[in-house]
Amino acid sequence: MYLKSLTLKGFKSFASATTLRFEPGITCVVGPNGSGKSNVVDAIAWVLGEQGAKALRGGKMEDVIFAGTTGRAPLGRAEVTLCIDNSDGAIPIEYSEVSITRRMFRSGESEYEINSDRCRLLDIQDLLSDSGIGREMHVLVGQGKLDSYLHARPEDRRAFIEEAAGVLKHRKRKEKALRKLDGMQANLDRLNDLTSELR
Ligand code: ATP
Repeated sequence: MYLKSLTLKGFKSFASATTLRFEPGITCVVGPNGSGKSNVVDAIAWVLGEQGAKALRGGKMEDVIFAGTTGRAPLGRAEVTLCIDNSDGAIPIEYSEVSITRRMFRSGESEYEINSDRCRLLDIQDLLSDSGIGREMHVLVGQGKLDSYLHARPEDRRAFIEEAAGVLKHRKRKEKALRKLDGMQANLDRLNDLTSELR
């Protein structure tokens, strides 16, 4: 499994559709200061579901949409597609290529797709959570990020390790199931109250 290509359209400084193709192994992106190298990394974090504006080096989520330049009007939406080679089947889906798309409008509304089929962010997180590409972005180490990992609280550091080991997904499912059980217990209590009132 490796990242095959990244297509950006209206994302930060990439107003026109731009596709970067990667090969297996190490890829270096070089360019002058301010030319958009970090925006490429932000796009990978964003398409995989990053929800924090700060993590994307902005003030609010809409800041990822091309804001315009002197010669070009602002755009109304940002779109990024990440294509992942899955010929080794590391991602549990019967396709040898998986493309993940995220689209965002100025209204704040987001859309997600797996291989061009609309889905929820949760579906993307579920699909990728055991593959080493995940929501906590432990695979993306941005400028200055290494320091924050080293100085993280023990519980945060544990969360990075749990995600890498694929445990986080099951912890989240357990929390969801416990919440459902709580709701069910409340319904049962209410039912018991009603039956005892009717007796
Ligand atoms: P450095 O080498 O200094 O770290 P870099 O190549 O990583 O620079 P980036 O930080 O990726 O550069 O890109 C910064 C550029 O992106 C700036 O020119 C900024 O104006 C532009 N930019 C960021 N967000 C937007 C946006 N929403 N619309 C238009 N341009 C944007």
